[in-house]
Amino acid sequence: MQSSALEYIRCPECRGHLSIHLAAKRNGDIRSGTMKCTECSNQYPVIMGRPVLLPNAAVNTWQAPVDEALGVMPGTPVNGLLSLNRLKEIGIDRAIEQSGSRCIKSEMIESDPNAVTKEMLGKARYLDSGEWFKHKGRAKRLLTFPAEGGVNYDIFREFMNTVQSTKTRDLIDLLSGGGYGVTHQAFQNRELRRIAAVERDMKCLWNIQYRFKHIRRSSISEAIGGDVRRLPIGSESFDTAMTLQGLTELHGISGFLREAYRVLKQDGYYVALYSEDPVTFDILPVSDLRKFALAADLYAGHEQFISAAEKTGFRVISTEALEGTRAIKRITVFRKM
Ligand SMILES: [Zn+2]
Repeated sequence: MQSSALEYIRCPECRGHLSIHLAAKRNGDIRSGTMKCTECSNQYPVIMGRPVLLPNAAVNTWQAPVDEALGVMPGTPVNGLLSLNRLKEIGIDRAIEQSGSRCIKSEMIESDPNAVTKEMLGKARYLDSGEWFKHKGRAKRLLTFPAEGGVNYDIFREFMNTVQSTKTRDLIDLLSGGGYGVTHQAFQNRELRRIAAVERDMKCLWNIQYRFKHIRRSSISEAIGGDVRRLPIGSESFDTAMTLQGLTELHGISGFLREAYRVLKQDGYYVALYSEDPVTFDILPVSDLRKFALAADLYAGHEQFISAAEKTGFRVISTEALEGTRAIKRITVFRKM
């Protein structure tokens, strides 16, 4: 992590500025230390070079959005793809009742951030070294720039070019996953001067940063541990935000949109690639999932997403339906007006 990232990284709880303590540096990079909020005194760790700013110092493991909406205990095995079998078994109407009747809280592990550091360190070191990429053909699949092809490659290319066409210098990638989208954008778009990739799944962070390093863009890029519903990012910090898929794996679409809007500068763009309909894997009818998703604030489909974005303050600049291998995809460009 570069010290310059502290210009836009903020406390996810109160959005206060952070000061860095006990930092170990290597070649100017902050490798380990603690970031302390100057307002609320919350602390967040830097682990093997990656800043991790999850609300309440929670070590969040990803849960299927259906499970999160239903208040299923974290650690309960997923029931069918994205836990859609659970939804089917409970029945839509009862599920809606269940999701509305409780205060949803993911389990927070309120612990000293240094304890988290110890637990994560072994895995972090392994991922940070790039060793992970050397197995199972991952380097060829994941470290080939430019990409050589793949499922829905044309749609991916179109999305990449759309992001580039916003002529941004500051880019934030939300729901980064393994960082495939953001690193390919970093590779092809040489106008970029600052890149942040926010992902909640901790093990992804070192993979994303390794890819940045692989394409020699790590000096302007940061993979940041954060929850997109409570971004650890200052308001009006970026010109363009992007999400490549990922929306179907999120519980809390409206909060996510408010945060995306907040961190963009005035007239900034948000470019999203997503499925036209909520993904059901044929487990239940689209209409059933849509009904539940709308009630539980999950991704409910293109029209519903547009409408939620407009309610947030975004204006739709363009939207394009594209025939994918299994389903229709959408690329939509929103603008903060
Ligand atoms: Zn704070």
